[in-house]
Amino acid sequence: MPPMRKSPVFIIAAIFASLTSQGAAQVTPIETQQIKIEVIGRPDLLWRYSSKESGQSFDISPPRFEVDNRSVTAALTGLRQTAAPVTLPNGVVEHRFSGAVTENQSLSLELVFRVPPSNPVVRFHYRLMSTADHKLTKQNGKDNLEYLGVSLSRYTDVAEIRLSEFYELPHTYIPADVPVLPRDFENGQKIMGPIVICSNTVDSLVLAYEHGSQMPDAYLAYQLDSSKGARLAAVKGSYYTGQPLDSRNPYPTVWMEIGAVKGTRFMVMQAFRTFLLRHQALYAESRKPYIFYNTWNFQERNQAWKKGRYLDTMNLERMLIEIEAAHRLGIEIFVIDAGWFSKTGDWTVDTTRFPDGLKQVKSKLDQHGMRLGLWFTSKAAVSSRMLEKNRDCIMTTNGRPHGPAEVWETEKSYVMCMVSRFGDAFADELIRLGKDLGVRYFKWDAFDQYGCNDSKHWHGTAANTPEERAQSYSFQLPEQMARVADKICAAQPDSIVDFDITEGERAVGLRFLAAGKYFIINNGPYYYSFDDPQLAPGGGMGANVLVFPGLARAVNARLILDYDRWIPSVLFMTHYLPDDPEYSQSINLGSLILGQNGIWGDLPGVSEEGVKRFAETLSKYKQVRDDITAAYPTRSGEIGGTPEIHEKINPETGKGAVVIFYNYRNAWRQRGPFFPGTFRYVTRLPVAKEVWHNGVTVAGYDSRGRAILEAKFDGPGAKIILFGAK
Ligand SMILES: [Zn+2]
Repeated sequence: MPPMRKSPVFIIAAIFASLTSQGAAQVTPIETQQIKIEVIGRPDLLWRYSSKESGQSFDISPPRFEVDNRSVTAALTGLRQTAAPVTLPNGVVEHRFSGAVTENQSLSLELVFRVPPSNPVVRFHYRLMSTADHKLTKQNGKDNLEYLGVSLSRYTDVAEIRLSEFYELPHTYIPADVPVLPRDFENGQKIMGPIVICSNTVDSLVLAYEHGSQMPDAYLAYQLDSSKGARLAAVKGSYYTGQPLDSRNPYPTVWMEIGAVKGTRFMVMQAFRTFLLRHQALYAESRKPYIFYNTWNFQERNQAWKKGRYLDTMNLERMLIEIEAAHRLGIEIFVIDAGWFSKTGDWTVDTTRFPDGLKQVKSKLDQHGMRLGLWFTSKAAVSSRMLEKNRDCIMTTNGRPHGPAEVWETEKSYVMCMVSRFGDAFADELIRLGKDLGVRYFKWDAFDQYGCNDSKHWHGTAANTPEERAQSYSFQLPEQMARVADKICAAQPDSIVDFDITEGERAVGLRFLAAGKYFIINNGPYYYSFDDPQLAPGGGMGANVLVFPGLARAVNARLILDYDRWIPSVLFMTHYLPDDPEYSQSINLGSLILGQNGIWGDLPGVSEEGVKRFAETLSKYKQVRDDITAAYPTRSGEIGGTPEIHEKINPETGKGAVVIFYNYRNAWRQRGPFFPGTFRYVTRLPVAKEVWHNGVTVAGYDSRGRAILEAKFDGPGAKIILFGAK
């Protein structure tokens, strides 16, 4: 139960607890300039998080497990620090404590805290350890695991931030900021989160957990209660009945976050966003705003518009031309999508397409200072050595294998289970490619959240029901994907792993982001997204609608910028189109520099003026991109409205960008004159005086150093001003 701070019963209980907690609580607290963590070990108070800035403390209740059909609360005795603090590659300091579980001394709980030196948000998880042979159980047929409890009673405003609602019209995941009202507490509602933001007029709190699944399919949820407490508990899949808990099999919980600040909810949202940018992932590369290219769009154009095949353009000659064009535009990471390989699983280069095994491709990229990325999926071709060695890891549903089926015009393959020993074999294969071919960007496609209920993998045995094995699979998938991605990054720390979430039923949440980034929109909606019974009546690309240069595709892709309030937009890669005409290029450039940073299309087909426009804008952008990435977003106007103004200025430097979109075009008039518009905007933050722009006038500065901007449009387009760019 969360403590009820104002209740006299609680005060008495607290005095009693402190009198009876013999042997507890003699470990040195963790302290930074912003926070303090005291590990206490009591049944009602495992540890206390305090914000020095706000002066507020939060009592975290211990986790509760079900072991051998008995509920066990992890109150601890004999608390000690189990290792000296370690500074991790991201500068975060890891602290480990442990204590024996009071009511069952063969169990102990390890507490792992990852504390950033200069951010109030702390990442933590627990490991339940055992010296005897125990089992995790579900006496009532359901998961019985509570991760934590905390009181939110001092807050008047509570909001659930959902990250994984799939919105079919734009065909993407979108975030949702949903108020949690007093009636939700009074009626004991459950909320999925994973982020909860709490605030009043004085201070704010963020809570979060790291997992991933599509709303409303929750694996964890916050149980609210009438005393305004929140308890994070398992819904399903957190473990399987009879899961061993012994000296070789500890139970690690999911990672969680807590952070508190003085000030409004926006202060804590900024702190959380900065935490995700700088302190969540062990390796920083996925957070860097490179300019990315991917070959897929051109492959698709060839298939849909030229009636060719997806892999017709997948060859050395075309790739060398594309690399040259990509370099001229300012692209830095060149990702070759599906079709470069001879077979999945072994991931050998298709030498009928690349006779030298990608050598010339790599040397041309090196020559331009660009990096190589390749497409992967968790499949193994029928004739692959990978399949031969890991046949027991084929994904199965009720005994039926997934596959074999053709993978983008290549050999038939089986889908392999990432929650089995295949995950490590897959990691080893990708690490080999990192070494042999210099691959530094790994695009992971078609990792579905659902599918495996095999009894021989890591997600249940023949003693469990198929349903329970399927839930354990889905629960573990984001954890295993992140573990494998981390293994790749540990081997080559300048690697980036992206997880394609361009379709529904993927493990969207905070867990994967601790190891990589998302690739979030492919082309957006399909004809079926609009209930079109003919599916593809227009000139789109196969069943995709938004494949043309102009306004619509960019507006759809910019919906993703809503995530930037909590999760940096650099973690949601989306490709924009470089095609002429000029107005479309300015819109696509203005969009991508706000953080999604991808480009795809027919690069060699871009006009000479278009190439110059991209090259100049992106070279100026690169001077201030770290500021834009660090900046908290401000938007004036709706996405797709006119005007739609985005400000991303780093308060520490005054550097960054303002982009003004004019999103109106008369649908019936194909040629100008277009409907004109003039807009004035005052920046939220003071700005650096040196600027580069493509048609924004600085009309003056106010007394605080904020810029007064004017932009005049004679039709659709985007005006960009970069503060601090020479
Ligand atoms: Zn499996």
